[in-house]
Amino acid sequence: MAYEFDLFVIGAGSGGVRAARFAAGFGAKVAVAESRYLGGTCVNVGCVPKKLLVYGAHFADDFEQASGFGWSLGDADFDWATLIANKDREIHRLNGIYRNLLVNSGVTLLEGHAKLTGPNEVEVNGQRHTAKHILIATGGWPQIPDIPGREHAISSNEAFFLKALPKRVLVVGGGYIAVEFAGIFHGLGAKTSLLYRGDMFLRGFDGAVRKHLHEELTKRGMDVQFNADIARIDKQADGSLKATLKDGRELEADCVFYATGRRPMLDNLGLENTHVKLDKRGFVEVDDQYQSAEPSILAIGDVIGRVQLTPVALAEGMAVARRLFKPEQYRPVDYRMIPTAVFSLPNIGTVGLSEEQAIEDGHKVQIFESSFRPMKLTLTECQERTLMKLVVDADTDKVLGCHMVGPEAGEIVQGLAIALKAGATKQHFDETIGVHPTAAEEFVTMRTPVKR
Ligand code: FAD
Ligand code: NDP
Repeated sequence: MAYEFDLFVIGAGSGGVRAARFAAGFGAKVAVAESRYLGGTCVNVGCVPKKLLVYGAHFADDFEQASGFGWSLGDADFDWATLIANKDREIHRLNGIYRNLLVNSGVTLLEGHAKLTGPNEVEVNGQRHTAKHILIATGGWPQIPDIPGREHAISSNEAFFLKALPKRVLVVGGGYIAVEFAGIFHGLGAKTSLLYRGDMFLRGFDGAVRKHLHEELTKRGMDVQFNADIARIDKQADGSLKATLKDGRELEADCVFYATGRRPMLDNLGLENTHVKLDKRGFVEVDDQYQSAEPSILAIGDVIGRVQLTPVALAEGMAVARRLFKPEQYRPVDYRMIPTAVFSLPNIGTVGLSEEQAIEDGHKVQIFESSFRPMKLTLTECQERTLMKLVVDADTDKVLGCHMVGPEAGEIVQGLAIALKAGATKQHFDETIGVHPTAAEEFVTMRTPVKR
């Protein structure tokens, strides 16, 4: 059968755009449908605007520390509306870049909601299109638990467009988004409480990292509460919100921000018209080549719920484009040693196994750990400490994991990830000459294992 397109991509986010552009570059006839915003979550309501707000929040530290270096500033004043307007302008610019990237690579861009009407057919704006392969790259959506008053809560989607900075914020959750936004709100001057339902936030991260970040946030004056979960939210006569916790305590706020995970975006996608299956958690089930239970339909990115990070969606998009249209260049995505950063203030940067994971996987581990006050802070009142940690296999000397909490942790860990991917041993780290004076040099000068 002759199809209109070789590949029809649903969703012009990180993964979809990458797959579409490269498939078109390999000579395929490609269409992309996008219902909301070009560039997807990352560009519009994710990584990019989030990082801009983190930069904004960090200025509070810079102003405070400047006096130690002889600068005297007047009273610093922050204007939320300016930050949001400038952020919006930049995102608008990026939307245009994404449009050009797609159009210039020969992709047909269809702006509208796409619905599957069969294994090889998609409907957009009332028009049906056929394709040999269809790629679902529809991403995810914030998930707020169904508690009374949930309509008074916001998610990251709305936080980026608030008209004013709330004076008092309750941030609910203990994952990436919760700690990042707690840092943004707190840094910009809102009275911020971070409420996490368990004993310690950032489940899955190294134990020392979690503890260190908790200490640093508390030192900064953020109210971090563990074993705290909201049972209901009520709007009060003066417009403020009252959150009643499961233990009966009541907290007042002007904004309740939920960051309690993301569900796959499958709304009105028409999966019922295909044999696509979902896994136990509700994400699209695919094999190791991203093929769903319907042979003509593939899926990548957040909608498959593996690793919800932009560079992973990009790698999956690339893998799909190559496998379908340039098989001689196909390489499977390697999910080991994915570096990641949490842009809390201070940042977390991490790659490889945590100490706990390494032990669970049966490694005999040697731990190297250093906590220090960075040189930049020695002329200031700031007592923030940086943490660096290496998890080493005692039998093979291989470095299994690198972890850091401190300024620019994400930047530092990117380079270390290459070393770990190449199989670096602790001896390689020891033989590497440091860059002086930097914080990063500590990673190559830790000599004595920590006694456990
Ligand atoms: P998306 O980028 O979500 O794209 C999906 C696209 O599909 C969307 O544009 C959507 O409108 C469109 N769509 C959905 N349904 C349809 C339909 N039926 N028809 C047409 N179009 C449709 N990752 C990082 O690596 N670093 C970070 O710092 C980071 N920060 C983040 C901060 C926040 C607040 C959030 C929410 C996420 C963050 N992420 C970060 C995660 C990252 O944004 C996602 O992993 C990434 O965007 C996933 O890409 P994707 O292509 O799977 O989906
Ligand atoms: P996460 O899955 O990272 O964290 C969700 C948090 O919410 C966990 O602490 C979880 O607790 C808690 N939670 C879940 N359900 C409930 C509930 N019903 N009541 C109370 N708490 C609950 O999700 P996020 O929303 O923070 O982010 C989604 C994903 O986006 C991230 O996993 C990450 O992949 C990506 N992202 C990446 C960023 C980066 O690279 N810097 C930044 C932002 C997002 P528990 O641990 O107990 O289950």
